[in-house]
Amino acid sequence: MAAKMSRAEWRRRRRRKVIILRIIVFSIFALILAGIVFGLVSLFRTFFMHEKLGTLSSAGDVEVLNRMLEKSEYSRNGVRISERGIKGIVIHAVDNPGISAMEQRNYYNSLGTTRSNHLSSHFVVDLDGKIVQCIPVNEQALANGARNGDTLAIDFCYPDETGEPGMFTRSSLVKLTAVLVKRLGLTADGILRHSDITSVDGIDCPKFFQNEDEWRKFKEDVMAQVALLKK
Ligand SMILES: [Zn+2]
Repeated sequence: MAAKMSRAEWRRRRRRKVIILRIIVFSIFALILAGIVFGLVSLFRTFFMHEKLGTLSSAGDVEVLNRMLEKSEYSRNGVRISERGIKGIVIHAVDNPGISAMEQRNYYNSLGTTRSNHLSSHFVVDLDGKIVQCIPVNEQALANGARNGDTLAIDFCYPDETGEPGMFTRSSLVKLTAVLVKRLGLTADGILRHSDITSVDGIDCPKFFQNEDEWRKFKEDVMAQVALLKK
């Protein structure tokens, strides 16, 4: 009788062991499966969603129109940059007074056909304050020379030869720069003028912000906006 009891007990223990073993094996498989799924999703995001991840839909209350350039070594060469590696945001003025953001964007896009220049920027801020994005922020633009790999480029439009951005343009430029400063974890030192980063003599881009008072005020406005965004 005692022997029979102990056999039943032994069976019960064995059953319990088998169940525990099954749970362990199942858990390991579940973990491996989760790892594989996570890895595949990450790869998918990196390779197929990168454009979406690098796209802004708005800057504060200003809508960002996504009008990405077609791939071309003359404007959008497709070279990826890691957002963590971005050290600065470089402000440029477009070359011609009165030109609109879409005209500037279309000029960049046409370089793939005309092959007359290597040039582009991530964003163009229009005369009326509208923002056009030409290149995802996790891809290089061709505006900042040796710094293309670790900076972003923003162009702004202006109505006349003074190069001064209009009220709406300036306001959107402040908001866009602030959103990027926050997103990339930069400080005021990361807000740069084209003339700050070029080694080419005589480049006074952006002309209006060569005035140090105006430039200081602009950077202060951006950092005030950054503080608002953090609230
Ligand atoms: Zn410039």
